Amino acid sequence: RTAGSTEEDMLRARMRLSLQEHLWEFYQTTVNIPSEEQATARRAALDICAELRVFLHAKLPDMPLREMYLSGSLYDELQVVTADHAQLMVPLILEKNLWSSIPGEDTIMNVPGFWLVRRENLEYFPRNSSYWDRCMVGGYLSPKAVLEVFDKLVAGSINWPAIGSVLDYIIRPVVPSETLTLEVQYETDRKLYVDFLPLLVMEDGTSLIAKPHRLAAERHENLWRQSFRVAETSRLRALDQEDGGCRCTCLKVAKAVCKLNPALSRLNSSQLTNAILMLSEKEGDWTQEALADRFHQLLRALVGHLEAGRLPCALNPKVNLFCELTEQEVDELGYTLYCALSDPEGLLRI
Ligand code: GDP
Repeated sequence: RTAGSTEEDMLRARMRLSLQEHLWEFYQTTVNIPSEEQATARRAALDICAELRVFLHAKLPDMPLREMYLSGSLYDELQVVTADHAQLMVPLILEKNLWSSIPGEDTIMNVPGFWLVRRENLEYFPRNSSYWDRCMVGGYLSPKAVLEVFDKLVAGSINWPAIGSVLDYIIRPVVPSETLTLEVQYETDRKLYVDFLPLLVMEDGTSLIAKPHRLAAERHENLWRQSFRVAETSRLRALDQEDGGCRCTCLKVAKAVCKLNPALSRLNSSQLTNAILMLSEKEGDWTQEALADRFHQLLRALVGHLEAGRLPCALNPKVNLFCELTEQEVDELGYTLYCALSDPEGLLRI
């Protein structure tokens, strides 16, 4: 070997960063959000939350709610690219003897992961014994009706321009929106979207959120969505803590890739988290050095799940996390990811 060709090899090696290096670079430059930006966004969300608490207590003192709180990836260090959204959780209080929950698989809709909340004892406790009876549709608590109650309040009777000028933000409800969302411009070039998310915590700890089934045919309208978010993110974090692993980094890189590639925008955090949880069951090496291998393996696993049309939830395998995708979407996602297998770095060139 001549000195010249060695130099060339080295040059080429240097120029062609490995997938591993590219992933970490992508993480640093694109995925990870500066902590100052996260803090400002959290502050804006908190200001809005405080205003809403005051308003609701004053305006509707008898509405049975537990204290509202903020949640989502912005609070778990799992938000990526820009600090631009959060959920405002609004926990409703239901009387235990008046409402019961029925798992989706025991209903004619047969959809595990969704629930009906049925009004009980109407003969002894007639309509309007419970505050939330006003949101009852056909004997069930309707998430849509609950959202409408808040929609009327938040979009209709709160003077957002006035509150915004006090807080020095521009706040306006987003219309139309399938959930109830506030757009908060808190700096000239920074916007935050805050989703209102009414929530029921059932006696056994099951969390149900008022987020409609995406392919909501009319018969799906009364379904509440079970939330696994708290359990799945804490499981992922616990695994990383046990072995100093890179699962959360892998998740964030994958989330950013899906956020920035329109062809992958249908994949959400919950699906990616569960795919990684499942991969963790058969793959032990999650050291920082293995990020590229695990990322590639995650892509392959997703292609496999898409081919099968099924991604079981790690916390309840009966739940198919792809059940709200159309066949065409499944095909398109599968195709995009399949093509990426031979050039995963292409996903990072955005
Ligand atoms: P990201 O928005 O992709 O960064 O992911 P998040 O982990 O913040 O998830 C937010 C999404 O999960 C929203 O669409 C929520 O409607 C939904 N979600 C389901 N359950 C929960 C929950 O318990 N808390 C929050 N904050 N969001 C939930």
